[in-house]
Amino acid sequence: MNKAVFFDRDDTLIKNIPYLKNEKLIEIPHGLDQQLLRLKKAGFLLFIVSNQSGVARGLLTAGDVEKVNQRLLEMVGSSFFEKIYLSYEGPTQEITWDRKPQPTMIWKATKEYDIDCGRSFFVGDRLADVLCGRNSGCKTIFINLGRKNLDAFVACRLATYVTFSLFEAIDVILSVENE
Ligand SMILES: [Mg+2]
Repeated sequence: MNKAVFFDRDDTLIKNIPYLKNEKLIEIPHGLDQQLLRLKKAGFLLFIVSNQSGVARGLLTAGDVEKVNQRLLEMVGSSFFEKIYLSYEGPTQEITWDRKPQPTMIWKATKEYDIDCGRSFFVGDRLADVLCGRNSGCKTIFINLGRKNLDAFVACRLATYVTFSLFEAIDVILSVENE
């Protein structure tokens, strides 16, 4: 079975611009390709797992999201990520099927890529990321961006690890791996 790292997209891999549809505004951290390469060399499959509720809210189309993601892959290097899983559901829907924190997108990846969640990590900046990782049996890394709210407080306590940046999260994954 394979091991994986699942990344949230907004404010984890790229700067969050709410309901981003202009691909020219994408900002990725300098040196991201080198950091992702370290994970690939350690044998991890990499995925992006993103809620894009702007589609349900009527602020974006699925095509807008795809266009931004395509550009993101071009900027980072298209060979790094196996697949991007997306949920277009909105948070006010009474029943959600695949929106984080539900583990549906991870389960899809597990099936499609034969992934052992026990050896895998979920990295994100929101409580929903930590819960999604936990709900699917992954270790979780919460990137603490210093938000002073209850969700951040709870996420710090539920996550397997807490870091202050994406690159620090990657260091944690590789150091835990080598123990
Ligand atoms: Mg995020």
